[in-house]
Amino acid sequence: MSTDDGVIGTNDDAASCKRYAVDKGYWNDPFISSMVPKSSTKKAPEISRGYYARVISTQLLVEKFLRLTQCNSQVVNLGAGFDTMFWKLHQAGLVPKSFVEVDFEQVTTRKCHFIKSKQQLLQALSGEDSDIMMNKAELHSANYHLVSANLRNIGALESKLSASGIDRALPTLFLSECVLVYIEVDITEKLIKWIADSFPTSFFINYEQVNMTDAFGQVMIENLKARDCVLSGVSACSSLTTQMNRFLNNGWTGGDALDLSVVYRYIPQEDVHRMERLELLDERELLDQLLRHYCLVWAYKDISNIGLHTISL
Ligand code: SAM
Repeated sequence: MSTDDGVIGTNDDAASCKRYAVDKGYWNDPFISSMVPKSSTKKAPEISRGYYARVISTQLLVEKFLRLTQCNSQVVNLGAGFDTMFWKLHQAGLVPKSFVEVDFEQVTTRKCHFIKSKQQLLQALSGEDSDIMMNKAELHSANYHLVSANLRNIGALESKLSASGIDRALPTLFLSECVLVYIEVDITEKLIKWIADSFPTSFFINYEQVNMTDAFGQVMIENLKARDCVLSGVSACSSLTTQMNRFLNNGWTGGDALDLSVVYRYIPQEDVHRMERLELLDERELLDQLLRHYCLVWAYKDISNIGLHTISL
């Protein structure tokens, strides 16, 4: 077993929690069932509400970026796992010039297999230029690319992005959803700095655990450790301020960092009210505690002055 097996396994957890919530009607995702089997275990309503806030808020920011850039831009999803965002954006008519997903080879091999074998997923990849090149672990099509790399190896990431035709001059959004927290702090800083230095017009969205030093956070850490999963990136990023400074000190101009209990109040409330009627919640306090232990951070660097600072929830 490699030291990353526990981290790779977190993708199955995230995917299965998302599938469970989608099946319950928390949000609409017609594509997830093509990659993730029905969950056999019941999840607590606070878990599904947390995932709802995570999925809706990141999707909102990504859509705002694509509308602002009129899709003349690129998206790089770091540690994408079995995320279905590309297919949801395709359905909404919001396809960037390139959408690149990066993960460990063990994960991209499985995702590649799902895409090859599911017509519903494959269909979205065949645009005007319908050539699709794929091998066991990677896939390249007109707008969508799936590549394998260890994000700790910036050189490997760089060459995989080049192989996907990424143009550093185009506005580029980087997304990491529950990923950086599994990578050593100094390496994450180098990665964040390399992106700022290499992509002069860029936007970064990071979602992950925060405020882990209290008792609730310690229980979360112990639960992950019990599954051979180490939060290597958590110590220096224990607060919203350190989360934001990590970007500001590494080449980014501005942004914001909110905990999820605040994000929850910013996402469209009409839909929140619909979602809250799906399942009864016994303890509101438990949900609030859980939400306070996750954050949504975004940062921008806007050499071309296209208005990236206007993107917020
Ligand atoms: N972003 C997806 C989501 O939110 O559904 C998956 C999240 S899952 C918790 C974390 C993902 O990050 C896994 O797929 C894992 O393999 C990937 N990951 C973590 N560290 C990585 C690294 N050093 N290189 C490549 N992928 C990594």
